[in-house]
Amino acid sequence: MYCGECAGVCPRSLIEVRENSLKFDKKNCKECTICIQVCPVQALAKEE
Ligand code: SF4
Repeated sequence: MYCGECAGVCPRSLIEVRENSLKFDKKNCKECTICIQVCPVQALAKEE
């Protein structure tokens, strides 16, 4: 279960959070790391 915090903060809206999956458009990612900073469990960092 993902909280969806990252999807709300991405300035480019690249993150799509569903009940049990987390997808993001890596190609267009600017690597600003905001999504990683707001994540309480570093879920996106682990997706790498
Ligand atoms: S690191 Fe990429 S996916 Fe994460 S908030 Fe920034 S642009 Fe969006």
